[in-house]
Amino acid sequence: MEGIDVIVIGTGMGGLSCGAALARMGQRVLALEQHYVPGGMTHTFKRKNYIWDVGVHCLGEMDEGRFPRRILDWLTDKQIAMHKYDKVYDSFHFPDGVKIDLPIDRDQYFADLVRRFPDEEKGLKAYKKAVDKAAKSGYGHFFTQLLPHVWGKLLTPILAHSFKRWSQTTTQKVLERTIQNGQLRTILAAQWGYYGPPPSRSSFYIHAVTTRHFWHGGFYPVGGSKVFGDALVRAIQQGGGEVLTRTPVKRVIFENNRAVGVELQNGQLYHAPVVISAIGAKATVSNLLPPEFQQSSWAQSIMKLTQSPCHVALYLGLEGNILEGGARASNQWFYESYDLEKTAWDVSDPNSLAPILYVSFPSLKDPKHEGGHTAEVVTFVPYQAFTQWEGTAKGKRGDEYLRFKKNLEQRLLAQLFKWMPKLKQHVVHCEFSTPLSTVHYCRAPQGAIYGISPTPERFACKSLRPATPYKNFYLTGSDVGTLGVVGAMIGGVLSAARLKPKIWGKLRND
Ligand SMILES: Cc1cc2nc3c(=O)[nH]c(=O)nc-3n(C[C@H](O)[C@H](O)[C@H](O)COP(=O)(O)OP(=O)(O)OC[C@H]3O[C@@H](n4cnc5c(N)ncnc54)[C@H](O)[C@@H]3O)c2cc1C
Repeated sequence: MEGIDVIVIGTGMGGLSCGAALARMGQRVLALEQHYVPGGMTHTFKRKNYIWDVGVHCLGEMDEGRFPRRILDWLTDKQIAMHKYDKVYDSFHFPDGVKIDLPIDRDQYFADLVRRFPDEEKGLKAYKKAVDKAAKSGYGHFFTQLLPHVWGKLLTPILAHSFKRWSQTTTQKVLERTIQNGQLRTILAAQWGYYGPPPSRSSFYIHAVTTRHFWHGGFYPVGGSKVFGDALVRAIQQGGGEVLTRTPVKRVIFENNRAVGVELQNGQLYHAPVVISAIGAKATVSNLLPPEFQQSSWAQSIMKLTQSPCHVALYLGLEGNILEGGARASNQWFYESYDLEKTAWDVSDPNSLAPILYVSFPSLKDPKHEGGHTAEVVTFVPYQAFTQWEGTAKGKRGDEYLRFKKNLEQRLLAQLFKWMPKLKQHVVHCEFSTPLSTVHYCRAPQGAIYGISPTPERFACKSLRPATPYKNFYLTGSDVGTLGVVGAMIGGVLSAARLKPKIWGKLRND
C-alpha cells in the first residue's frame, strides 16, 4: 500500500472502530492483525455445522437514537442490525432456588425489586440515582482525555470532578451506603461478570456504566458477532485502506521519539505518519515499545495496573428441541453462593465448583443464526493454574495439559447439567477453551477477558488515554474507553477524534 495515513495495530472492536472512523474522515488506514481473521474478541469460529462467538453475548444501548447506536450506525453505514432480547435478557439463579429475571425495562426492574424488598424502597431509589450520576460522570472524564496536556491539566479538576468521586469508590461501598439487605446487594451486583472484579475491588463507575448500559434491555447482533468485524473492515476498505490478517507486529519504529511505522514479525516494514496501537495498553508497552520507553513513568504507571480475570469456556453443539432442554434466549447466570467475592474457580481442588456459570445460547438470540444450535458456558479461573504451559505452542502443549483440560471440561459439564439436567440429551459436540486459547487467538496478556481491570486505580491512571508521550503514537480500544464491545468502540472513536475532532460533528449530524 502506498500513501498510508495511519497504521492501526490490532483489529478488535477498538482497532477497527478507530480505523473505520478515520476512514470515514478520508484517511487511508492500514490495519494489521496477528490472527487469521479480523475482529479480535468479536470473531467467531466454526466446527462442523456449529458457529460460536468468542467474546460477545449481550450488548446494551442499541435502541435507535441512543449514542452508542448512532456511533455504530455511522461507522458501519447502518450495515449492522441488532436484535433486542424479548422481555428478559439476563436471569440469575441462586443456590436456594431464588431466580431473578432482568427485564428489558428499567422501571419494571426496580418495581420488581421493591415488591420483593419493600423495606428497601428508599435505598433502591438512592442506589438508582447513584448509578445514573456515576455513569453520566464519565462524559466529563472522557472529554478531558482528549484535551492537549496543558488544557487537560487545567480542566480535569473541574470537568472530571464528579467522575473522580464515583470512580475512586468501590461498588461495595456504594451498595453498603444505600442498601441494607445483603441478598439485595448481591442481586444488584450480580452482573459483576460483565466487568470482572467483585464488588470490593470494582470501581463504582464501571458498575454504574455497565448496569445503566442494560437498563433498556439487551441486544445481540443479527448474524453473530462477526458482523462487527465484517462491516468495519468494509468501512476501512471503502476509505482506500486495507486490513491484513496473519501480520503480527513485532515493534513500533520510532525516530526521535516520533512513531514512523512498524516492523512485522517477518521483518517487513510499513511506514505511516501515525501509528495507533489497539492491542491493549499493557501488551503495547511490553510487546511493541523499545526497552528504554518501557522504563518511562508513563509506561510504568500502565504496567502497575492489574489485568482483568481470565476464563475457560465450553462450546457446545446441540440438537433437537433445546427449549425443552431448558435453553433460553436470555443469558443464564448460575451462582453457587450469594458471596460474590468468590469469583474464580479453584481448579486445583478436585471437589470445587465454579462459583458462577454464565450460559448463553446464541442460536436462540439470532434470528438469522446459521447452522445448528449452540451454547457457550463461561467461568473465571486463576491464570496461575495454566502458567506451566505458557509459551508452549497450541496443539503441542503435551499430554498432561490435555488431561488437565479434559478434567476441567468434564467437571464443568457436570456442573452445567446439575443446573440444567435436561440439556444433556441435546449435546452432540463439545469443545473447551482455556486462557491459553485467549492468549493464542487474541494475544491477551494472561488471557485477560476485558483488558485492564476496572478498579479505582485504573480510572486514576492518567496514562490510559489516546495520546502517549511519543509523537504520532496513540493508544485505542477498551483500555482507552471502557470494557466490552461498546466500550472498545467508544475507545476507538475517542482515539480517532483525538486526530480528527470533526468526528463529533459527524456523530451529531448524521
Ligand atoms: C468470553 C467473553 C465474553 C464476552 N462477552 C461480552 C459481551 O457479552 N458483551 C460485551 O460488550 N463484551 C463482551 N466481552 C468483551 C469484549 O469482547 C471485549 O471487551 C472487546 O471486544 C475488546 O475489544 P478490543 O479491541 O479492546 O480488544 P481485542 O478484541 O482483544 O483486540 C485486540 C486485537 O489485537 C490483536 N493483536 C494483539 N497483538 C498483536 C500484534 N502484535 N500484532 C497484530 N495484532 C495483534 C489481537 O489478535 C486482537 O485481534 C466478552 C469477552 C470475552 C472474552
